Order: sequence, then C-alpha cells, then structure tokens
Amino acid sequence: MVFQDRTLTCVECNTDFTFSADDQRYHEERGFTNEPRRCPSCRAARRSQRQGGGGGGGGFSNYAPREMHPTVCAECGKDTEVPFRPRGDRPVYCDDCFRRRRASSSF
Ligand SMILES: [Zn+2]
Ligand SMILES: [Zn+2]
Repeated sequence: MVFQDRTLTCVECNTDFTFSADDQRYHEERGFTNEPRRCPSCRAARRSQRQGGGGGGGGFSNYAPREMHPTVCAECGKDTEVPFRPRGDRPVYCDDCFRRRRASSSF
C-alpha cells in the first residue's frame, strides 16, 4: 500500500494539518485504522492535560490570634488579659505579678 500525504482538519481547533505518509504507515503498523482527528498540537495538549492534572490548592497557614480574656490581677488589682478563661477557683495574675511570683517561688 502506498501512502500519500493527506490534509486533515482538526476536530478541536479546525486547523488543517498534514497526515503524512510516514504517519500513516506508523498508524497502520500500530494497527490503528482511524485517521487522526486532531492536529499534533491538540494531541500534545490533550496528553499533557491528562498527565499534569490536579495540583494546586496551596495551603496557607491559619494563625488564629490567641483569644484573650480580660480579668483583674489577684495580686495588684490591675486590669489585665490572660490567654485562658479565668476560673473563679484560681487567682489570676497580670504579667508582672505572674513573673514575679514565678521568680520568687522556688520551692
Ligand atoms: Zn487542533
Ligand atoms: Zn499584678
């Protein structure tokens, strides 16, 4: 069988492309009976689409600011905020008093 270059129209982009004799021979050797419906560039695009699918979805870290609870220092009576919900059964200290108590309490 003698192959001849043929001009086909891509079903994807409507561009005429050459289905060359070499390509036709290659096709037949591979057992393909249908002529190609897409131009080489559309075929390459589809192939890369299938391969490089997915990706993306870059996660950004979500730093929630620590919730502060206003309270009054049990030591000096100063208004302060603590990063936990103050409970009535424990004295809550401001930063200064807390640090001072920690430094002085060397059990
Ligand atoms: Zn095309
Ligand atoms: Zn204090």
